[in-house]
Amino acid sequence: MEDLHPTQKVDRSAPAIDVRQLHKSYGDHEVLKGIDFSVEKGQVVCVIGPSGSGKSTLLRCVNRLEEPSSGQILVEGIDITDPDTELDKVRSRVGMVFQQFNLFPHMTVLRNLTIAQQRVKKRGRAEAEKIARENLAKVGLADKEGAYPGHLSGGQQQRVAIARALSMDPDMMLFDEPTSALDPELVGDVLDVMRKLAESGMTMMVVTHEMGFAREVGDKLVFMDGGVIVEEGSPVEVLTNPQHRRTQSFLSKVL
Ligand code: ADP
Ligand code: MG
Repeated sequence: MEDLHPTQKVDRSAPAIDVRQLHKSYGDHEVLKGIDFSVEKGQVVCVIGPSGSGKSTLLRCVNRLEEPSSGQILVEGIDITDPDTELDKVRSRVGMVFQQFNLFPHMTVLRNLTIAQQRVKKRGRAEAEKIARENLAKVGLADKEGAYPGHLSGGQQQRVAIARALSMDPDMMLFDEPTSALDPELVGDVLDVMRKLAESGMTMMVVTHEMGFAREVGDKLVFMDGGVIVEEGSPVEVLTNPQHRRTQSFLSKVL
């Protein structure tokens, strides 16, 4: 990993992500109330929970789109809540894919994939385009490099967004309900890309309502409610034998 911090050193034996007593408030509304969890390298952790439970806020803190109110987030041993952390580098090492793909509408697919590589990673155009094309091929969209996002289906746009994040060489990827905005028939292609990424060994945190994906691909399932982690465990255990009443109640509504 590139240096995220001028003095702290990467610890390769540390968990990929280690969150300790994370609190986040907006004004006097406390949204995250002391979150502790870790993600080992190569692990896929799925996060479920009702709307408003703090799932997006948690992911946004982990790649520092939000500033935590207190607590620590260690990425490969480096405390990214430290004020000296280089946030641009955190955001390229910790890739993020959103529900609303957030592509630049006035740029071609290829340009969407090269702009941050050139600006943040300081790659030349030819190298950036080569890497972009490799990643477009990975998500099955090699033939779409000249298209504008508005001419692609939602599922294709989301796969472009995944390829864009991968073009930054992330060490881990965060997905915030990546298939929730898609028509049902387009969900499968996006989940297939994510499944392949998991099989390739990528460390992933995935907020999702896709329980099949969580069960088959996830190494761990975390249930959040009201700004806390209520329960976590192996996906099969949590889905078939939830221990807490709140987990049982949530699952009875979504399964
Ligand atoms: P989830 O992703 O689980 O639906 P969020 O993390 O989006 O939950 O939101 C958790 C709570 O934080 C909600 O009550 C939401 O209204 C509040 N919240 C999220 N972002 C902001 C913000 N930028 N300003 C104020 N409140 C926010
Ligand atoms: Mg959310």
